Amino acid sequence: MPTGSQKFRTETRRLLDIVVNSLYSQPDVFLRELVSNASDALDRVRFESLTDPEILSGDPDLAVTIISDPSAGTLTISDNGIGMTADELSRNLGTIAGSGTSRFMEGIEGGNAPELIGKFGVGFYSAFMVADRVEVLSRRAGTGQAGARWESDGRETFSIEEADRPGRGTDVILHLKDGMDEYLDRNRLESIVKAYSDYVPHPVSIGVKGEEGTRVANSGTPLWLTPEKEVAPGAYDDFYRHHSQDFESPFLRLSCHVEGAVEFHALLFVPSKRPLEAMMPDWRPGVDLYSRRIRIMESCPDLLPPWLRFVRGVVESPDLPLNISREMLQQSTVLRTMGKALVRKVMDRLSTASREDPEGYARFFEEFGDFLKEGLLVDSDYRQDISSLLLVWTTADLDRPVLLHDYVERIPSGAGVPYVTGSDRKAMAGSPHLEAVRRAGTEVLLLDGRLDELLVPSLSSAIDRKMIPLDREESDSDISEDDRRRRGEASTRLAGLLEYMKSVLGTRVRDVRISTRLDESPCVLVPDRNDPGEAWRGLMKAMRRDAVEMPGILEINPEHPLVSYMHGLYETARSDGRLERCVRLVHQMGAVLAGSAPTDPSSFAADISAAILADGEA
Ligand code: ADP
Repeated sequence: MPTGSQKFRTETRRLLDIVVNSLYSQPDVFLRELVSNASDALDRVRFESLTDPEILSGDPDLAVTIISDPSAGTLTISDNGIGMTADELSRNLGTIAGSGTSRFMEGIEGGNAPELIGKFGVGFYSAFMVADRVEVLSRRAGTGQAGARWESDGRETFSIEEADRPGRGTDVILHLKDGMDEYLDRNRLESIVKAYSDYVPHPVSIGVKGEEGTRVANSGTPLWLTPEKEVAPGAYDDFYRHHSQDFESPFLRLSCHVEGAVEFHALLFVPSKRPLEAMMPDWRPGVDLYSRRIRIMESCPDLLPPWLRFVRGVVESPDLPLNISREMLQQSTVLRTMGKALVRKVMDRLSTASREDPEGYARFFEEFGDFLKEGLLVDSDYRQDISSLLLVWTTADLDRPVLLHDYVERIPSGAGVPYVTGSDRKAMAGSPHLEAVRRAGTEVLLLDGRLDELLVPSLSSAIDRKMIPLDREESDSDISEDDRRRRGEASTRLAGLLEYMKSVLGTRVRDVRISTRLDESPCVLVPDRNDPGEAWRGLMKAMRRDAVEMPGILEINPEHPLVSYMHGLYETARSDGRLERCVRLVHQMGAVLAGSAPTDPSSFAADISAAILADGEA
């Protein structure tokens, strides 16, 4: 057993420093933090008692007790919860173990310390806002060990020694600083508990040493079981922030009580920001499950489908068995029924928000749109419904997205949906691929998201429209009768030039063809219809150095003066070197106009220099 004096870890010392020196403006929060730790310890012992009833023996009534001792100047927060061994004391209170605390540190590193004050808990260490010495006397339930005492002045070190505690649980004894006497006053303590800990699901009693009796200060009904109209203002936000360790208020809240085949209460939140951990492989999102006020699982990943994993909150149902393993839970029809009902409710709320609060919804979609797109891709059960939640960008407005379905309604019925993929909306909207449709006033879908290219087939089936890629080789079926005729004529007229260009460019292009889509530009290089698009090619290049370059198709604009000039050279002076240089330049120009780099920069530069010099000589 690690007894004696130990040094705090460096980041813990930093945190203590911040807590003590800069977070003192709302010291009341220390009580919320300690009561919430105590309540958590009670939840845990109750959970363990499901498999080991002995653990509660002799002391079955779970409670938090706060005792002030004015003559000693101490305030003690006690619980008969799970308790800690000496090892756990050292680990939990000597390093920044708690997830909440590490998130707090991330926030601090991000430089927003002042806004975090009061909004956010800083865990156990907040005790040092009001105390200059803290003792923690604890005894782990069900181990037969006597107990241990942790003690520190919150500066450099803490010490641990063996100690007696008659029963299981923990006492946190605060030796209050000078000037903190207000926290010895029963009424003051009661009002803090009422304000911050009213919905803690265990009784929190307050007593004063030397005075008769203790009083329960909180309502004890968990927030998710409290009827909405009885909930104090701000309580939902407070609960959310504490529950999900988020500094921001949630974007949406959804509370419901369903009585049907399965009965349940749910209190769910859609955050307004994607959490940093969402990028980490060990991110454990999900909703907490309760049955008869007992938390049977934290962050249950199986209630909602994976693409709704950003939803946080609590679901309680008396129909969920108390004693249950993850495997059994996955099979549970109760869970499945609740999950289905909740998916519907969450989608309805999001849908309402998309209509009633378009700006808020656009911000939400910016943060979580990728999750919905993932759902569209993998979850065909909900494909239709998810598609109605999608926001897309189109050439009609580059500053504001629209609901996919609103856009589709504007496209003539039965017509295909023209789209381009890429990463930069503005560049995509200005690309030569769109010249002809721009002239015709057609509104084009701009798929600029990371996953968007993958999404095309699912989108097409969800909206039941053909998707027409404008940044791929032109296909006969996508263009009008008229365009087909014009293209046929130009191809015949310029057949010799096209053949000549192909022979000059060799394997650098797959084909040289006439385009009907170009208006101002002379040419553009496009991928084959079946080739992966720009986003995929970028990804493949990043993964494999030796990824094969796929030669594109060079489309030329038969009406452009440069093409007419080349045609003239072809007819009259095809062997004097100018035409060949011109063909190479047009090919490189096609790459540049498609938004890529020249494929062979040094020959590109040499050809340009030669062209300029020739121009000077003429
Ligand atoms: P957090 O509550 O965010 O995890 P804290 O700094 O408040 O961070 O607490 C650190 C850890 O110490 C907790 O996760 C818990 O394991 C343990 N702990 C704190 N208070 C108690 C208590 N009263 N009973 C049992 N364990 C506790």
